[in-house]
Amino acid sequence: MPIPFLDLKAQHASHRAEILASIGDVVDRCAFAGGPYVEKFEQEFAAFCRTGHAIGVANGTDALWFALLALGVGRGDEVITAPNSFIATAEAISFCGATPVFVDIDEHTYTLDPARLEGAITRRTKAIIPVHLYGQMADMDPIMAVAARHGLWVIEDACQAHGAEYRGRRAGSIGHLGCFSFYPGKNLGAWGEAGAVVTQDLHLAEKVRILRDHGQETKYHHSVIGWNGRMDGIQAAVLQVKLRDLDRGNAARRENALIYRGLLADVAGVRLEPPADHGTSVYHLLVVRVAGRDRVLEGMGRREIACGVHYPTPIHLQPAYAHLGLGPGSFPIAERSAREVLSLPMFPELTAGQIALVAKELAAVVAAPRLVEALGV
Ligand SMILES: *Cc1c(COP(=O)(O)O)cnc(C)c1O
Repeated sequence: MPIPFLDLKAQHASHRAEILASIGDVVDRCAFAGGPYVEKFEQEFAAFCRTGHAIGVANGTDALWFALLALGVGRGDEVITAPNSFIATAEAISFCGATPVFVDIDEHTYTLDPARLEGAITRRTKAIIPVHLYGQMADMDPIMAVAARHGLWVIEDACQAHGAEYRGRRAGSIGHLGCFSFYPGKNLGAWGEAGAVVTQDLHLAEKVRILRDHGQETKYHHSVIGWNGRMDGIQAAVLQVKLRDLDRGNAARRENALIYRGLLADVAGVRLEPPADHGTSVYHLLVVRVAGRDRVLEGMGRREIACGVHYPTPIHLQPAYAHLGLGPGSFPIAERSAREVLSLPMFPELTAGQIALVAKELAAVVAAPRLVEALGV
């Protein structure tokens, strides 16, 4: 039996009727753009993140962009982030007119290494965006300490970390602002596109609220130049139902990760980094390091086990960011990770039997003599 990377159908089976009924309500009330369902979801998501405020937006990239704009980040400013994120983190910085400045990562957590932060700060630095990659939070205490020392803002890119915790605090609640994506494949996924910004700061919340709605404070009174980045009412209705199930889903992911950990512990050539002692991952992805990653990826594909790579090329080596002039060797830890990382199937409904099969096939593929290469076919 093939094993999918992610099985959204299995996830929807349990609450499909409830979600469809909820969508029906939105249709009956014609509350399509913004409106009561978005407001309700915002309240519930803020409570989930343990923040005072949540603002629903169109997607995670908008969330990051509006967060930066709310802080006044603009032309000439620098924003520090990690080079091994999804490109949206850097795009949001660029779309403010600012420049992304990358800092290499910690090799065990795959997140921004706080020890390297201070070396990247200049007179132009305005903010830091740690990325809680694969579901695990960055080491926030030292990051917040450096930010406080230098008067910098911190935006958490929590697009892969809904419900993750750092010393008992939830993703999004530690920095000045936190950004989430509800892209369908995320731990909390819409039936389309959506995102949110969370914050404890009423003033920043108001700024984001205005920015996502054409800079409108009241109808047709535009105090700043904003954008159309509102959350869709139907997505809010879907998310409201799915949010109730998120803690359970995250717990199931953690259990699956534990099973993987046990099975892969003694497999030569496969390394699963130990969990950080500073918090609880929500395992958006289950990432291992393997030598000859592309060969292993291909071998798993042949055995019908869907794997992924997050991400094969660090942002500073993307053609889109060639103008930064950062060649290979600029961030060796992130670059080595990009060559080694392999994401295995991970979702709440994955069964212990499926995990055992993935682990068995992975061990076989990694151990297989490199016949194909040796023969040159
Ligand atoms: C998904 C993701 C984003 C972007 O979210 P979209 O909703 O796709 O715009 C940003 N940062 C990270 C780390 C992500 O994983």
